[in-house]
Amino acid sequence: MIDEMTNPRPGDHCLICGGPPAIIGIFTPREPEKYGAPCGKARLVRYCLCDHCHGRPETPEKAEKIIRAELAGGGVTNAE
Ligand SMILES: [Zn+2]
Repeated sequence: MIDEMTNPRPGDHCLICGGPPAIIGIFTPREPEKYGAPCGKARLVRYCLCDHCHGRPETPEKAEKIIRAELAGGGVTNAE
């Protein structure tokens, strides 16, 4: 399942800037219940980053904020 999640998909874009994705990451919240996962089940969130955003020191924090906002709002937003 993880392998499938880390394969590139059409429509992938950088989570931060919306640019072409270079890497695919899986975000695993430490408290999955808060993200709508059934108790005891891990919630995996797939995201992409471009070369530019990947490796920037502020990116992990930014990415987590965007993922949290998306999960809380139930929708997907592009940073375009
Ligand atoms: Zn980017």
